Amino acid sequence: MTTPLLPNFLAGRWQTGTGAGLPLFDPVLGTELVRVSSAGLDLAEGFAFAREQGGAALRALSYGQRAALLGQIVEVLQKNRDAYYEIATANCGTVTKDSAVDIDGGIFTLGYYAKQGAALGDAQFLLDSARIRMAKDPLFQTQHILTPTRGVALFINAFNFPSWGLWEKAAPALLSGVPVIVKPATSTAWLTQRMVQDVVDAGILPAGALSIVCGSSAGLMDQLQPFDVVSFTGSADTGRIIRSHPAVAQRSVRCNIEADSVNSALLDPAATADSEAFNLLVSEVVREMTVKSGQKCTAIRRVFVPRALYDAAAQAIAAKLAKTTVGNPRSEGVRMGALVSREQFDTVQAGIAHLKTEAEVLFDGSQAALVDADPAVAACVAPTLLGSRQPADAEVLHAVEVFGPVATLMAYDGIEQAYELIRRGEGSLVMSVFSADPAFIAHTAAELGSSHGRVHAISPDIATLHSGHGNVMPMSLHGGPGRAGGGEELGGLRALNFYHRRTAVQASTAALDQWGATAVAYQP
Ligand code: NAP
Repeated sequence: MTTPLLPNFLAGRWQTGTGAGLPLFDPVLGTELVRVSSAGLDLAEGFAFAREQGGAALRALSYGQRAALLGQIVEVLQKNRDAYYEIATANCGTVTKDSAVDIDGGIFTLGYYAKQGAALGDAQFLLDSARIRMAKDPLFQTQHILTPTRGVALFINAFNFPSWGLWEKAAPALLSGVPVIVKPATSTAWLTQRMVQDVVDAGILPAGALSIVCGSSAGLMDQLQPFDVVSFTGSADTGRIIRSHPAVAQRSVRCNIEADSVNSALLDPAATADSEAFNLLVSEVVREMTVKSGQKCTAIRRVFVPRALYDAAAQAIAAKLAKTTVGNPRSEGVRMGALVSREQFDTVQAGIAHLKTEAEVLFDGSQAALVDADPAVAACVAPTLLGSRQPADAEVLHAVEVFGPVATLMAYDGIEQAYELIRRGEGSLVMSVFSADPAFIAHTAAELGSSHGRVHAISPDIATLHSGHGNVMPMSLHGGPGRAGGGEELGGLRALNFYHRRTAVQASTAALDQWGATAVAYQP
């Protein structure tokens, strides 16, 4: 039976690609669901339409008006939530609470930017900091301003967050007045496509403001012109291709890359096996390994504990992991569903084998049977805890990100060695520190800040308040230096920077006074 080909939305109209297209599967049942194809699309027409019509229409609105549009998108998505959960179960293989991270996480982020944007009111561009005097006479000054770029924002997204991955980027782009063209990862493109369809059908956005191309990425980067921007989330290998494309390398297209990351968790050397910090670390590691079957770019991959606590930590984490039931997300009692595809299943198995060349197996969940799923068909991987008593001698453990329910426990001798081992990840999205000592937390944050986009400190006083090591919250920066791609997203209104151009206006005070309400002071 042939499954339907999902249409693309480009140049203001629904267009079905030519050919048979690429199939999308249910990763638990192995059945084909729908197909996608970008073959035969006139990309040049679509990009020009978005750039010219979508861009002009969005820029004609104020930040406040665009923020109101984001609020309307939230309402439409809320109304259709049930359909999104069904698609996520079928195409992403996730249990309800994991689908929520993606679906409700995306809607929450949109809502956050709707509120932040409303506060910018009637303005059409931003004032960056105060004026600076440039001559002895204060009449000649410089004022930095930020104006929306007159191009499109192309998003090339990863498979693990088909909803959040779109909205966390589209919210600041649309709020900035920049039209969006999204290319979701093929294996999970259905949810993104359906959300865009609902928003388009609701007629909220001006024509050309939001487009979607599903299927092959061929030719997309070739369309980019100097004032366009591209935001990529995915593997470091594809990131390198994007970065070296002539659009970026020769035409100066602004480029944001979010890539692999070997994130860490660190237990205070002063912790004991019966301390609250120890228990908090154990719970967070288990949560990070199992939420979305470990398919989170921010998930904990390396766990550093003082050598004296290595065995106790291994036992405590293993005991909790043993309670994780894995299988069909439709079955009651299943806590962890599948990876997104059988290809990812093979990649994760190969990754575990690679890590094992330097690590011992502390817990292997694959001994337990899958619930209501055929192990020969389903892309279900049970949690695996590996361990190394000599992480200083390891190479692979600090370099290879296995994108599944896998983490490696590591023993450290002294805090300076722990810091050095964490830095061997060569730049990560996030590290978390577990301690009851505020001074230790503050010191660690300053020590490891330069190699991380985010430092998440979990102490007993905020045990019930904190947002979680791996949860990306819109008010905090998301991104990381080095191997994590060097990108920056979110961080409240900081996210608007990427979609604006900064200009120094050097003029008389009288001229600088003319903007009035068209400009607003920008406080990220
Ligand atoms: P991927 O294979 O690099 O694919 C990412 C996206 O790039 C997909 O949309 C893919 O399309 C597209 N693509 C592939 N080849 C391309 C090319 N030559 N030119 C332009 N686009 C191309 O990565 P993935 O396997 O989907 O994602 C998993 C990785 O993403 C993990 O390593 C994870 O760490 C990383 N990730 C990072 C973050 C973060 O925020 N830092 C978030 C999530 C995931 P097709 O699907 O059609 O091939």
